This record gives sequence, C-alpha cells and structure tokens, in this order.
Amino acid sequence: MKFGGTSLANWPRFLMAADIIAESSKLEPVATVLSAPATITNALLEMVDLAVEGKSYQAVVQHIDTVFNTLYAQASEELLAPAQQSLLQEKLNAQMLQWKHKLEGICLLGECPDSVRAAIVVSGERLSAALMEQVMLAKGITSAQLDPVSLFLAHGQPLESVVDINVSKPRFSVLPLNDYRVWVMPGFTAADAHGKIVTLGRNGSDYSAAVLAACLNASSCEIWTDVDGVYNTDPRVVTDAKLLAQLSYQEAMELSYFGAKVLHPKTIAPIAQYHIPCYIKNSFNPSAPGTL
Ligand code: ASP
Repeated sequence: MKFGGTSLANWPRFLMAADIIAESSKLEPVATVLSAPATITNALLEMVDLAVEGKSYQAVVQHIDTVFNTLYAQASEELLAPAQQSLLQEKLNAQMLQWKHKLEGICLLGECPDSVRAAIVVSGERLSAALMEQVMLAKGITSAQLDPVSLFLAHGQPLESVVDINVSKPRFSVLPLNDYRVWVMPGFTAADAHGKIVTLGRNGSDYSAAVLAACLNASSCEIWTDVDGVYNTDPRVVTDAKLLAQLSYQEAMELSYFGAKVLHPKTIAPIAQYHIPCYIKNSFNPSAPGTL
C-alpha cells in the first residue's frame, strides 16, 4: 500500500492513511511505502539549491521543521505516547543536524554532487516512515521498518536509479516477515553497489511500491492517491471523463506514455512482469472501488 504526499500532508490526512493501513492489516499483513508529506521534497531540493548559490536557506529549513513539528504535536495530542513523540523529535533533530553539516559544506564548495543531493532529498520519506511506524505501534499493531538502502540495489544515475529486482528480492528472504503485521518503507529511496543512497526519480515512490510488491510476492499493490482511479481521459479537461473499473498493464502503459500522470511507465513494469494486480485507490474516498 503506497501513500503519496497529498495523502500525508497533515495530521488528519496522515491518520486517515494510518486507519486505511490498520483496517487492511486485519485481513493480511501489509507492507506500506510512504512519500514525504506534500511540499517537503520540493523544500529539500530548494534548500540544496540555495546552499549551492550561497544564499540563505534558513526559511526553508524552518518550513520543514514546522511541518514535522506540527505533525508530531497533533499526533501526540491524539495518539502517541510522550516517549514516542520524544523519539520522533530526536530523529528530526539528528536529521536537521546532518542537513546543517552537509549544507555548510555545499555552501563552501558552491556545488552539490548528485550523491549528496540524493542523500538529503530522501529524508522526507524517512521521517514519514518513522512517524507511521510509531502511529501503528500506538494503535497496538506490530510494526517495523524496511530499510530501502540495505534492501534495494539500484543502478543508474544517483537521482534517477532503477532497482535490480533479481538482486534485491533474495535480500527479503532473511527478514522476519511474519513477526510484524505492518512493515513501513520510505519510498523514493535505494542504494547503489557501494551502499550509497540514490533516488528513484521524482515521484519515485510508486515505483518503490511496485518493486516492493515484486520482492515480497505481494497479493496486490495498492497505490493510494487523491483521485478515484484512472479515467479514460484527463478529468480536469474533459468533464464527462469516465472512471475505468479496470485496464490491462499494456493499456496502463500506453496511457502513461501519452501523459496520464496517475502511474509512471517505470512503475508498471515490475507489477506486469510479476503479474501483480494493482489498484489505484483514493485515500479521501476509501470505500470507492478504485481502478484495477
Ligand atoms: N517525494 C518524492 C517526490 O516528490 C517521491 C514521491 O513522492 O514519489 O518526488
């Protein structure tokens, strides 16, 4: 089950996603892939760009800090134990300190290698995953994280890598998969052959979910987004666009090549290759059937 940035943008939405995961985990174990909350990835990239130009990035750091602190504060009011809030706060502080050191270096150099940019830009996903793990535990559900850095081996450019499923899949066989009901993985993230963090490209979390589904032989892959499913044409342009109940991998691939943003062609390849049913579902309207 993959949740995108808009589905995690603030605490009420984050909780809605958590409820969907919790409900599903009653039926079968769930592995979930999370994006960074909306605005965070762009903010991280902007922070790096400002540092490269030697400009002040404090306002952007402040924005990121506020987004996560607000999430933690509201989560704690409603659900989390004080110790859980402190744990998340410590993770955020450690992350901020890491950014600070890296950004100072980038400022001095006046440039940022892609591998350093990748390591910074995936941190939004990590913070999302840490929060979801704590939310699951607070709901009394056994939960642990899947680390995409040690599990997904990827090739290609540091900011646009492709996962080698043949090498990555066997790495899952040593995990105590049955010990936890909900596994949480940060999306968008993998590592190269040297263990260095790479990204799977912008909007790469859908692809993370497809690869994870393939690695786990999942019974299905669910992409939870902010629309009811795949339409036969762009519903923002054509008012009587029809929602499709289902389409083939081939049709999905063609639609995405012609510009449908709902699924990237890269995402469709692993689920098609491993014949995994994929549902596009709306996290704001979970009872709608979605598109298969
Ligand atoms: N957060 C990343 C992005 O905005 C990856 C994703 O959400 O899929 O590109």
